[in-house]
Amino acid sequence: MVPAGLWITYQIHPPKFSGNWVELLAFLLLTIIVATMPIVINETFIFLIQWVALATFLKFGLFVEIIFAQIAVIALVLKLKILQKGQFFRLPLNLNMFFLVSFISGMTYYWLGGHTGPELANDYSSLSLAVVYGGLYYLINQVILLIHFKYIYKRKEPFFGSDFVVETITTLITLPIGFIFYILFNEIGLLSILFVGIPFVSLSIIFILYYSSQKVNDYLQKAAEIGHQLAERLNVEDVKNIFLQKVCEMLPVDYAYILEVMTHKDEKYLLLSRGFEEGEVRTKPLYPIRRYEGMSGKVWAEQNSLLLNTRKEWAYSPSSSYIPEDAESLLCVPIIKSKKAIGVLVLASKKKHAYENSQLMIIEVLCSYFAVAMENAKNYEQTKMQSEHCALTKLYNFRYFQNVLTEEFQKLSSSESKYLSLIILDIDHFKSINDTFGHQSGNEILIEMAQRIESLVGNRGTVARYGGEEFVILLPNVSKVEAVSLAELIRQSVANWPFILHQTIVKEPQQVRITTSIGVATAPEDAEDAQSLIRHADRALYVGAKRAGRNRVAEYSTC
Ligand code: GH3
Ligand code: MG
Ligand code: MG
Repeated sequence: MVPAGLWITYQIHPPKFSGNWVELLAFLLLTIIVATMPIVINETFIFLIQWVALATFLKFGLFVEIIFAQIAVIALVLKLKILQKGQFFRLPLNLNMFFLVSFISGMTYYWLGGHTGPELANDYSSLSLAVVYGGLYYLINQVILLIHFKYIYKRKEPFFGSDFVVETITTLITLPIGFIFYILFNEIGLLSILFVGIPFVSLSIIFILYYSSQKVNDYLQKAAEIGHQLAERLNVEDVKNIFLQKVCEMLPVDYAYILEVMTHKDEKYLLLSRGFEEGEVRTKPLYPIRRYEGMSGKVWAEQNSLLLNTRKEWAYSPSSSYIPEDAESLLCVPIIKSKKAIGVLVLASKKKHAYENSQLMIIEVLCSYFAVAMENAKNYEQTKMQSEHCALTKLYNFRYFQNVLTEEFQKLSSSESKYLSLIILDIDHFKSINDTFGHQSGNEILIEMAQRIESLVGNRGTVARYGGEEFVILLPNVSKVEAVSLAELIRQSVANWPFILHQTIVKEPQQVRITTSIGVATAPEDAEDAQSLIRHADRALYVGAKRAGRNRVAEYSTC
């Protein structure tokens, strides 16, 4: 379309060139400078080229204006690195759009009787028609942009939003500048470029600064929201997942990894803690990375972030090979807690030049939120674990057991489960073990007893330390017959296999045989509420097992 349009333009309105190459070059230079200072909002660039285009058109005619506008688009595309980002289609799309805008508005201007050339200062009809030209130029630009938005970029945001307002205002400001420039150029020549150009370039810089600070503000606001969401999570896995999910939503990310510093045999390594590869969780483990090894190792050791635009800039090392080969851009940020790097976040995109410095800054802020959230979640999990477990045997404690018992009873009442069996176990003559071998050895027995019971129960139920040398086992959906046979298995495995004691007061390792007395009760047949289930199992233990001679299993019976 463009070559054909240029040919038509040349035939109908050939340029009347005075031969002054310096002026032409000065206009071209100005076009390129203005074109490379776009304001980018939401990936649309607001191009303040209209005023130069207007002056070029009035001075040199449509043919030159079309060519300059095409050069302006190429300069802008190069400046925005659109080609490196792989969005090749945007070059012909924009060349085409600018051609249409130039061609339609220029042809309409001529058709309405307007003239172009260096000496229009006194041609009032042409100058007033130039206002129509400017208006049309702006209007066609907006219509084509609207079509692009709807059918090519398929944007969901409203077209008449803040970008539209900014574009309209800048047009209203810059078109008069175009007129003044044109008139001034005819009066004072090249010097006018300084008079008009300098304030204009300053205005562009102010706009660019304003928008980049607004963009950073938006990012900061988003980062603060993510920080709140992370702080609310008390589960370490949740914190990692939400963090990666939000980071991937915020930036163009194809591969994301959280590497955590872990200690193995007194040496510290970076190990994969969570990885996403194109939306899928990475399950393949990662080669452990040492300090200064590869890019992540360097970021960890030096605590400085890394932003790389293309794969050529990467430092190759076997430890970096975990990132797929088609990744180009890379963001590598240390996760710092109390001035110490506790991990590294690695983000990669298949596109070149995918990340900007402002994004790197936000990711650094997010990483510090993440470090705090992780620490909180780890502390919470540890405190919770301690509050629910017995420090000696690592079994659940009585408090936790009570909660599970209440929950399981509710399931029983709502018919979610059919039975609820409870086994209670007490070591026989445990006091004499303490008296003979010492309290430490008593502890050894309790620890091993816990392990033996847990391995026999498996995932059939919950094992807890009930008191001193008493253990309880809660078995949802296990009938009394099954519970009694499990109890019998436990009794035999204790009675038939001696315990080896290493920390006796008599020094040498000792073999000790011990026995247990066990009581079993099952709801709903033996009890209607949680407390009576415990009481009845306990009763079976004391009456049916202990009093009957110990080393036996007794089930509760109402008779
Ligand atoms: P039986 O149950 O057969 O009637 O006799 P027993 O000797 O086991 O009964 P008793 O309840 O009189 O004694 C329990 C002993 O368990 C008392 C206490 O010294 C010991 N004990 C309780 N908790 C611990 C512990 O954490 N470590 C050690 N080593 N001993 C404990
Ligand atoms: Mg006992
Ligand atoms: Mg006891």
